[in-house]
Amino acid sequence: MAELNQRTDNPYLLLTPGPLTTTSSVKEAMLKDWCTWDVEYNKLVDSIRQKLVHLAAPITPEEYTAVLMQGSGSFSVESTIGTVLPREGAKLAVAVNGAYGERIVQMAEILGIPVTAVRFDERQAVDPDVLEEVLKNDPSITHAAIVHCETTTGVLNPLEELASVIHKYGKTLIVDAMSSFGGIPLPVDRLGIDFLISSSNKCIQGVPGFGFVIARRSSIAKCKGNARSLSLDLYDQWDVMERQHGKWRFTSPTHVVRAFDQALSELEDEGSVEARYHRYQCNQQILVQGMQEAGFEVLLPEEWHSPIITSFKYPNQTFSFSDFYTRLKKQGFVLYPGKLTSEPTFRIGSIGDVHSEDMKRLVGVVKQIVNEKSDNEVNSSTDKNIALNKSSI
Ligand SMILES: *Cc1c(COP(=O)(O)O)cnc(C)c1O
Repeated sequence: MAELNQRTDNPYLLLTPGPLTTTSSVKEAMLKDWCTWDVEYNKLVDSIRQKLVHLAAPITPEEYTAVLMQGSGSFSVESTIGTVLPREGAKLAVAVNGAYGERIVQMAEILGIPVTAVRFDERQAVDPDVLEEVLKNDPSITHAAIVHCETTTGVLNPLEELASVIHKYGKTLIVDAMSSFGGIPLPVDRLGIDFLISSSNKCIQGVPGFGFVIARRSSIAKCKGNARSLSLDLYDQWDVMERQHGKWRFTSPTHVVRAFDQALSELEDEGSVEARYHRYQCNQQILVQGMQEAGFEVLLPEEWHSPIITSFKYPNQTFSFSDFYTRLKKQGFVLYPGKLTSEPTFRIGSIGDVHSEDMKRLVGVVKQIVNEKSDNEVNSSTDKNIALNKSSI
């Protein structure tokens, strides 16, 4: 076991899209208690906000701002939807090709916000032309939300084309870039994104506990009084953070914030987003090639693959995911079940503190499991044949 798990603090690697495997130094950063109103902590929060803005909008950082929000990533999405759309005269269009797009539609419905879902097959990327037709034919739409990497399957939606269609019709653009920000180059200012949402426990490689929104200053400044919730009022959260220099309105996840700062430094040390993107791509290539050699088929055509997470089809009707899962977990890897309604799949993430060596070892273990299985099947069918032959004698 010791040889399998060089990271002595982790019994297994999380090959999931968040929470994911973090470095020891990120975890160690949590070993100190912080006071939420102390200036030292508030300065840390403000510097994180600055770093996020520079990461997202390097060309025009002065036009953007960052707000941190307690909770998992969905809390930040809901906070954005519920604060950004005015109470009157607004309508949201959501491009849906998976569970996270569907979740945004559900949020709007619960908040009583008029919403149009533009639905696509989950095994396909969102088609900008179809979205364009909808925007063209319904001038009452004021805002459009898209998911960059749909983690449901790992499909990467064509952000640039979608952003340009949404701008052409003058809509406010909201992007759920939860599972891609920090892991895929994403120039928020060049793409003209108004609100981009991500969280602490995805490609920045921190631990779970808060989400963040990169907002165009002129867009968020207009959102006062829109919120349908007190705790999830994104405008108020921003206003307090801005005016009181890094203060959160309510108790913040202090240890998580400190770990996130460490994770941001480690992202810089790695060579920033470009270098991380390259590592994730290498991980994913080793994974896909090895899994194909082991007899697994990928769900999506290659052109739509993200380097974040990959969906694999069950190889046959007798395949037991729970058996496969348990055996891999014993060898130090935790996978992710599928989320598709149309066909049985499972998913393997390539993000987190996971490197080529880890992926090579993973595919080695998968091949071993597959071979053992087919040996067993051969044996058991030979047994059956023998039994049959015996009974016929
Ligand atoms: C992870 C994720 C979310 C947020 O999920 P939480 O469980 O609330 O953190 C939202 N959208 C996408 C695309 C995601 O990958």
